[in-house]
Amino acid sequence: MSIQLYNTLTRQKDEFTPIEPPKVGLYTCGPTVYNYAHVGNLRTYVFEDILKRVLRVGGYQVEHVMNVTDVGHLVSDADEGEDKMTLGARREGKTVWEIAEFYWNAFRSDLERLNIIAPDIWCKATDHIPEQIDLVKRLETNGYTYVIDDGVYFDTSKFADYGKFARLDIEGMQAGVRIKMVAGKRNLTDFALWKFSPKDRQRLMEWSSPWGVGFPGWHVECAAMAIKYFGERLDMHCGGIDHIPVHHTNEIAEARCAIGHQWVDWWIHGEFLTFPREGQGDEGGSERMSKSSGEFLTLDSLSERGFDPLVYRYFLLNAHYRQQLAFTWEGLDAAKNALGRIRRIVLDLRPHYTADESPIESRIAEFRQAAFDDLNMPRSLAAMWGAANDANGANGANGAKASKGEIYATLLEMDDIFGLGFADLQEEQLAISPEQIQKLIDERNEARKAKDFARADEIRSQLTEIGIVLEDAPSGTIWRRG
Ligand code: AMP
Ligand code: ZN
Repeated sequence: MSIQLYNTLTRQKDEFTPIEPPKVGLYTCGPTVYNYAHVGNLRTYVFEDILKRVLRVGGYQVEHVMNVTDVGHLVSDADEGEDKMTLGARREGKTVWEIAEFYWNAFRSDLERLNIIAPDIWCKATDHIPEQIDLVKRLETNGYTYVIDDGVYFDTSKFADYGKFARLDIEGMQAGVRIKMVAGKRNLTDFALWKFSPKDRQRLMEWSSPWGVGFPGWHVECAAMAIKYFGERLDMHCGGIDHIPVHHTNEIAEARCAIGHQWVDWWIHGEFLTFPREGQGDEGGSERMSKSSGEFLTLDSLSERGFDPLVYRYFLLNAHYRQQLAFTWEGLDAAKNALGRIRRIVLDLRPHYTADESPIESRIAEFRQAAFDDLNMPRSLAAMWGAANDANGANGANGAKASKGEIYATLLEMDDIFGLGFADLQEEQLAISPEQIQKLIDERNEARKAKDFARADEIRSQLTEIGIVLEDAPSGTIWRRG
């Protein structure tokens, strides 16, 4: 069965074919490790994981490289402002290297908790300074650069196709807004390839280069590292949708002008997770969560409210990756209930499974059709529930053809793509611990004190649903399993 994917390059769904089947080279833009990843960032990594799993199930051997940005990502996209790493180091009174190590580890732990398959190769920007300098040298030799006081810049007016990928209206951009530009920059869209350190002080991170002491521009690392690990042609490059107009546009310009031919065949981008504004209910949905503002939700914030990371993964599967998804606690509650239900079914079916039973072909076909159609997870989930509901009539009852063991095998095979951990699921994961119950009771008491009765009632019904009965006694709230 062929896999159809929406390619940002062609703006249409096409049948996927790699350069050298069955191999697929996949490069995904990784985190800037100056803070925890927020749940929005994590949506992008879950989408990329689903893509990778679909390709694997489709019979491809995926080689996946992810970078770690630990230098050069400035606060502003206009090559100005502080390095995000310096910002993180100052905030925490640590060195930039300590910050990078700490948040990279935290990020890897997030991926693990979300059942995201780790990349085959991690590459850090600071470990690839010579490769980045080489790329800038190639661009210089080919006549695409100029040097100003601030650094070495890419002259976008020399690349006729600049901005074509993102369908940028460059003339409109230049005429429209008055943007403060770095002094000496020739065109609005020109970008830094190498920035010089300030003349009067040492930067926390700096290296020598043929042009002077400084650090690489953010858009250089991915092109330089992807070329190092995959050569001058690459199957697939991914990231969040915000990367289309600047980061990926600039990477494409660099690679094209350095190597002289098309570099990446497939560009796949995931839509944003949005956050409803305070007081607008769940419909607001348009505010973006920003890592640099410091106010954001992490995987731990969800755990603190009783949502395990795989509940968040399930929540994400409910939306197509090219659609915006609004984050809501109600949505997470629904995901928690649904995941709880399917987990219960998986555990109930497991004892009936024997190794000689195979998945139900028609259900798997329906599922793959959806998953291979541009990673349509909502439809794939519907196929999963269809199979799960077969359990109601399984083993001959109601004339059903599938046995419980076959349904179990079906759900397990589907989980190769969902990544919800069905194979390793244990009974204890379904039971709520006394500590978690107490935490919810404390939260309910707080809510009652703050006269937030809606939240208090919500917690009570959440507990009732899983068979926990609360009794409000004068000495405090006590609970028992009902
Ligand atoms: P950063 O660590 O800031 O470089 O971002 C890591 C990844 O998260 C990038 O691929 C971004 O495109 C993506 N991203 C940032 N914000 C969101 C969001 N709200 N929803 C989905 N992806 C996001
Ligand atoms: Zn990148």
